[in-house]
Amino acid sequence: MKSANSDPIQDAAQSSGIPQDKLLEMMRVLGAELRRPDPETEQKRLEEKLRTKLAKEHERQVITEQAEKVRLNQEACGRNGHRMDGGRSNRTAISGQVHSDGLFHGICVACLWTFTRKPSSDEMSFGVLS
Ligand SMILES: [Zn+2]
Repeated sequence: MKSANSDPIQDAAQSSGIPQDKLLEMMRVLGAELRRPDPETEQKRLEEKLRTKLAKEHERQVITEQAEKVRLNQEACGRNGHRMDGGRSNRTAISGQVHSDGLFHGICVACLWTFTRKPSSDEMSFGVLS
């Protein structure tokens, strides 16, 4: 007769004649086998993982290229002498104002290059240059 707190593994080992450590190993292998996803699920999981990875890589590349374009454009701001209306106007594309720090905070509306500098006399007297 079994006692109330008998070990089911031990009981199974005794009744089957399989050594307890061998029985435990068999159960471990069976457990791993049961947890393993079927090939179709595993395939879908791998495809999804690859899709996510490629999407992230693409996104990173787009962001990098965009940042590089902006950098080159802004670097060329001074050389290009950006004008309003894409050059049809003689007015400079630089806009900005003198802030309380006494500096002119400018932005080029053509390439969105921002800068601060000591204000010129014009910028001082008008406060805002456009
Ligand atoms: Zn510019």
